[in-house]
Amino acid sequence: MTHVRSLPLAAALVCATTAGCETPFRPKDGVQYDPPPIYLQWWSSVEQCSGRRGDFSRVLWYEVPSAPGMWGFACPNEPPGRYCTGEWHSPHTIMIAAPNEVYPGGHRYDSVTVKHEMLHDLTQSGDHGPLFARCVP
Ligand SMILES: [Zn+2]
Repeated sequence: MTHVRSLPLAAALVCATTAGCETPFRPKDGVQYDPPPIYLQWWSSVEQCSGRRGDFSRVLWYEVPSAPGMWGFACPNEPPGRYCTGEWHSPHTIMIAAPNEVYPGGHRYDSVTVKHEMLHDLTQSGDHGPLFARCVP
């Protein structure tokens, strides 16, 4: 399922995994960051659309290095050759692809990626049900 507009590769994915249960997941190469204020607006809009409510402050945000020459990182739970701009891990960790030479802005301010991962956190699922088509197309 492709969630990344304006990027050429069909393998673009924003994926998720439910591995991890309740222990906070901390990606090995990730750098934790404070969510910028715009995230509160995005969270609120995803809550409103989905009818789900969640505690924004429970989410841990990490930037993860993109693969060399790629605009995202290799998705841990996808077949080789798939790259992600974002990934949610249960219970409340969201990884976002960091800037690199291919995608200098990174995806931290990519509302499509960030809101998609927010919806995973609000639904507490890696599945892409109808809410995804409706709220984070
Ligand atoms: Zn997803």
